[in-house]
Formats: sequence, C-alpha cells, structure tokens
Amino acid sequence: MEPAKMGSFSPSHPPKGRFAPSPSGRMHLGNALCALLAWLFARSQGGSIVLRTEDLDPQRCRPEYALQIEEDFRWLGLDWDEGGSRGGKPTSYFQSRRSLFYEDCLEILRQKADIYPCFCTRAELHTAEAPHFADGRFLYSGRCYRLKTQEREALLKTRRPSLRIHVPDGDISFQDGLLGPYTENLAKECGDFILRRSDGVFAYQMAVSCDDGAMGVTQVVRGRDLLSSTPRQIFLLRLLGYPEPQYYHIPLLLSPDGIRLSKRDKALDLGRLRERYSPEKLVGLLAFLSGLISRSEPLTPQELLSVFNPETIKREDIRLPASLYQE
Ligand code: GLU
Repeated sequence: MEPAKMGSFSPSHPPKGRFAPSPSGRMHLGNALCALLAWLFARSQGGSIVLRTEDLDPQRCRPEYALQIEEDFRWLGLDWDEGGSRGGKPTSYFQSRRSLFYEDCLEILRQKADIYPCFCTRAELHTAEAPHFADGRFLYSGRCYRLKTQEREALLKTRRPSLRIHVPDGDISFQDGLLGPYTENLAKECGDFILRRSDGVFAYQMAVSCDDGAMGVTQVVRGRDLLSSTPRQIFLLRLLGYPEPQYYHIPLLLSPDGIRLSKRDKALDLGRLRERYSPEKLVGLLAFLSGLISRSEPLTPQELLSVFNPETIKREDIRLPASLYQE
C-alpha cells in the first residue's frame, strides 16, 4: 500500500499543525496572518493544532508576552488542542524548558553525524572572504571542522565553543505546498550550521526540528522567510528518524515602502489593532490581503473555513496600503 503523503488530506490521517510564536513582543499583523492560515490549513482538513512557545532566547523573550499571544489568538477566534495553558503530553511546550530533551536529541545526532565545537568569533565568521547570499546568509568555511585534535583541545581551554553539525554535499529537496519544489545543497549553500550557541542556548534550527518531530507535527505553515531554513530542518528530522511535515510558506507582509513588518512596528501590533478593529473585521482584512476573499468583510475564522481555498493564497509578498497606518 502507498504510504499516505504527510500533510495531505486523508480522513484517517488528519494533519497536526502548529502555532510557534516567539514571545519577544506583541504580535503584529504578519504574525496574526500566519496564525490564521495555520489554523485554516489544519482545521479545513479536520486536523489539530499545537501551540508551542519558542522562547529559547532569554534576552528577548518574556513570559508575559507568551500569555498575551494566547490572549490575542483567542481574541481572533483561534483555538488549539495542545500547548500553552491547555497543557498536553510533553512536559512542556515552552522551548526554554525543553533543554534536557534537546540534549537527548543531540546525543542521537552525535551517533549519526559529525558534531564539533566551533570557536569562531562573530567577526571571524563575517569576514569578506565568506561567500554571502542575497538573503543575508553566508557560507560557513568549515574552519573549525578542520582543526586538529591538539588545536581543538588547546582552544577548549580558552573559549566556550558553539556546536556545529557537518552537512553532506548533496541536494535536499521538498515540495512546498504553496511555492512548489525547493532544493538546497547544504554544503554549498549553507555550510555546517550551529546546533547550540556558545552560551549553551540551543539554536532555532535544532529546537524546531526536535520539537516538530517529537510533537508529531505533520503540517508547518509559516512565513516565506523560513523557506531556506527548511532543508536544514529536514536534514535534522531525517537524522532523528522523524517523518517530514508538509510545509506551506506564506507571503510576508510589507510596509507601504516594501519593508518587512517587525515587532518594532508598533502601529500594526495587536494592541493598536484591537483598539481600531473588531476580531471579525481584522480576520476579514487578513483574508482579503492574503487573497482568500475578494473584498474585506467581517468574518470569523469559522466562517472563513467554508470558503478556504489554498489555491487563492497570494504567492508574492503583500505590500500593505498606507491607509492602514493612517486610520
Ligand atoms: N518562532 C518563529 C517565529 O515566531 C517561527 C518558527 C517556525 O515557524 O518554524 O518567527
């Protein structure tokens, strides 16, 4: 029998989607769009949703933001099945409390791949010689991979290293549900990447892969800016023995001058938006902006389900009208 394609609709295998917010500030309109589409993709196929709080970075993340995000999801009319204040099976859905689990995953990875300490400083990594790509990424040279045992031991006495994983020289491909086929050769386009930072904090790529795998996530809906992270995550998922989810990378929201929204754009954070809009009006606006409906009209997420057609979702980034900032 053919195995069911992960994430495709099958009544006996409804998908498991996720919300994976980083509580580093109040959500903005782009985060709300991502949550709404993740909810629509999962619920339209009879699936469930995990709320996982990606609060790895202790400098940027705060528990009060995590609570606020849950409250904003509820205000929008979005619900979920596991995680956040609903609890569930893993001991915690907060990444900051899952280090022991990541340590276990690291041990599994050590058995399957070359994991080594990297002593390069930020300045050394960003030298002019390192090939840089248009999206700001650069290729790691593999300098610390080539260290001799003695050199490595000497350096271990002077600096706390980060941990990198050695990547293969071969293509990793997947079929994005919205953007189509995507292929990357990690050795040529990314280089060995970091699993744990020198301050001991696990890297985003590591935590997200371990969690998507362990939490049984089969459907990932997120911003297009993470498209190029996906081959690294698929590489780790395969090493850890987890199946690959179906990915849908959605367009980003841009300001009228073409700049990506960030949590610093206070004008479009949920706090300000909630003063100006009802939840239905905001959901209708997001549905219109993303191409799901042809004119902005108030709707609940539940009402949107009956007209949800992923084919109509825009593939290009969405430039917001200036009027949105002025109302
Ligand atoms: N935590 C990330 C963010 O808020 C999302 C990561 C992901 O969806 O893989 O941007």
